Amino acid sequence: MLSHISMKKSFFLFTLVFLLGCSDSKDDLSREIDIVILDDLIQHSNEFDKRVYSFDNGLHLAVGYGIANSIMVEGIDGNIIIDASDSVAEAEEVYSHFSKINSNPIKAIIYTHNHGDHTFGAAYYYNLGEEKPMVIAHESTSEYVERIMGILNPIISKRSSRMFGTELPSGDVINVGIGPYLGVSQSPIGYIKPNITFTDELKINIAGVDIELYHAPGETNDQLFVWLPKHKALMPGDNIYRTFPNLYTIRGTPHRDVKSWVKSLDHMRSLKPDYLLPSHTKPLEGEEVLETLTIYRDAIQFVHDQTIRLMNKGHSPDEISHMIQLPPEVSSSPFVREFYGTVRWSVKSIFNGYLGWFDGNVSNLDPLPSEDYARRLAILSGGEEKLFEALQKAVESEDMQWALQLSDNLLALNYKIDSTKKLRQEAIQYIGDRALNPNKRNYFLSSANELNANYQAEPLLPQTSELLSEISIDMFFDILSVRLNPEKAKGIKQRVCFEFESGNIKTITLRNQIAEVSSEKTNCDILVKTSEQILKEALAGVRNPIMTVASGDIETGGQRTNFLNFLSKFAE
Ligand SMILES: [Zn+2]
Repeated sequence: MLSHISMKKSFFLFTLVFLLGCSDSKDDLSREIDIVILDDLIQHSNEFDKRVYSFDNGLHLAVGYGIANSIMVEGIDGNIIIDASDSVAEAEEVYSHFSKINSNPIKAIIYTHNHGDHTFGAAYYYNLGEEKPMVIAHESTSEYVERIMGILNPIISKRSSRMFGTELPSGDVINVGIGPYLGVSQSPIGYIKPNITFTDELKINIAGVDIELYHAPGETNDQLFVWLPKHKALMPGDNIYRTFPNLYTIRGTPHRDVKSWVKSLDHMRSLKPDYLLPSHTKPLEGEEVLETLTIYRDAIQFVHDQTIRLMNKGHSPDEISHMIQLPPEVSSSPFVREFYGTVRWSVKSIFNGYLGWFDGNVSNLDPLPSEDYARRLAILSGGEEKLFEALQKAVESEDMQWALQLSDNLLALNYKIDSTKKLRQEAIQYIGDRALNPNKRNYFLSSANELNANYQAEPLLPQTSELLSEISIDMFFDILSVRLNPEKAKGIKQRVCFEFESGNIKTITLRNQIAEVSSEKTNCDILVKTSEQILKEALAGVRNPIMTVASGDIETGGQRTNFLNFLSKFAE
């Protein structure tokens, strides 16, 4: 009997998806906002009007179908797709237009980088014909895809959902800065692992088209740009679009190397392109291409250099974020309006990238825990009730950032929790409603939504076996390692070895409340035999793990209960 082993099913749902579903089911907090504040953001939506831009040299750019653009390059006996959109359904919609222009087979799919809005629709193109297209990307792309789908998935999913407003009623999302909305929620994820990769550059002829790919770190470390020398056309991926760049993204990201970003843009400028087909926002041609690339790289360099100048004078990230403004010659360009990244957030990220989180101020090295700080602040204010009154007053007088900071302290003290949350919600909603930056707006409105008493997180999209087969088994072991519950692993020394049909060996050794992953097959307490795909499906909840063990699809050498017990240590 296995029933005494309690394992929540949710434990197995490794939540591989990085983005959540859309909903119209939120309580609508009816409010009136002066529309003029948001006018520019509403205007910015024109950038994403659904349209296929066609050039007479055989280049076609689909804008407005989900968050990212897709590009089709016509060759002699086949076509090339650059970036595959957010989802299979969107790829299908885009291709319904592309195929009317030219229905020759798709010979290659090129990912400009790992983000889901450029890769998750690939399976549609991959499965179109008998002959499978090449899938080309930088050598590090698959590793980054797996990282987002893997150990960081729960938090990146949550924060992405807030930033893109996927749980908001559609009327609340004006746009997402670089696209109209995130489309992945309505359709299965169709990521296909790249099968042709390169380090620095790749020059290749596909269907008679000369194609040059260059590694170009910027918005991501795996970013590439596509150069078609005969067309004099540049596809810069996400290293340029019509808004200030996301030098930092509030959904959370490793440090983005801002200096390399400038270098990558300079590499593009050196080619003197006539056409620029970005992966977000509309295309450019003629003189505007070089002018825009130059303004864009200057904006980035300005923020980078001035941050460092002020860092060297001893200023803190917070201070610098209030000190730097783009020069008017640059800020007048429509390409650097803060509809995606902002200068303020970029400054803090640049500081952090060079010096790490410590701002240099001794007060901030080991500050009081927030609850202790809040208690002292309450005493100083004349008691918790006084703090609460200050919060009420701040909300009444629409001093909302102060209200938020006051509410942090009251939450830390757990004081009048329901009323505090209500006031906090009002403050978050107020700021979100008036934020011109859609990332901030969506993040705030989503956070306000989460404070509704009846709020329930949207369920994650179900996994498919096809998707799991594109993800390496190593990632699943990495996830197990970061899910080990130390309480349940106390005092346990155990080694479980996995022998896969592929011949691959993976071993988890529990000791000192850590799970070491290796590939030794000695001194195994339990020897598990199965296929990589079956284990992936069981861990991701595509198949029932207990049934899979019971049926022998995961063979445990007679140690089913012990194996399930072992797995339970990775549960909440
Ligand atoms: Zn993108």
